[in-house]
Amino acid sequence: MNKVLVVEDEPDILEMVRYNLNQAGLDVETAEDAERALQSVQEILPDLIILDLMLPGIDGLDMCRQIKQDARTRHIPILMLTARKEEVDRIVGLELGADDYVVKPFSPRELVLRAQAILRRSQGSSQSATETETWLHMGPISIDKAAHQALLNGDPLELTGTEFKLLITLIERRGRVQTRDNLLNTVWGYEYSGYGRTVDTHIRRLREKLGEASEWIETVRGVGYRFRRERV
Ligand code: CA
Repeated sequence: MNKVLVVEDEPDILEMVRYNLNQAGLDVETAEDAERALQSVQEILPDLIILDLMLPGIDGLDMCRQIKQDARTRHIPILMLTARKEEVDRIVGLELGADDYVVKPFSPRELVLRAQAILRRSQGSSQSATETETWLHMGPISIDKAAHQALLNGDPLELTGTEFKLLITLIERRGRVQTRDNLLNTVWGYEYSGYGRTVDTHIRRLREKLGEASEWIETVRGVGYRFRRERV
């Protein structure tokens, strides 16, 4: 059974989330502050962490950073709960590498769907080792799908699980425009649209990590993104 750690200091929300995840067949652990949550993360190594941004003491952003800096816990996907849409860039964007976010107030159903989608794709990616094409090479970028490792000019790229899946999807469909909905569907596992901003922020972060090689990912205005077929 998948283990989910929920970190939230508001008892009503914590209980609502715990109840709904339980109903969906997930094993739920809870913590009301980041200190205790960080202990639990080390003890139980959950399959997913649902993390409130605003916590007393160590806040959700710091906790997220600590988890992503620790080699033992870096792979654990994080779904952030946030009260404001404006915070989204900070969360999935620049330095943090959270995998997804939900803006409060959210419906329990939406949260459960998001949690299940993240669990599906984090488990799906670790099973891809048996696929026939193990290595992908495109310009300066090489991807070892079995080892879940991307290389840029031979040097390892530090990508989150989502960034890795996004890069693979773009490369495998190179030369063809991918709409944001398309990418949401394939990479995030969402069957609905309206989260194009999530795609944009992840593309931006991926491009930052690719440096000069980011020119391989083209923006197709008003449509989406396309990975080049060949060097220009
Ligand atoms: Ca809170």
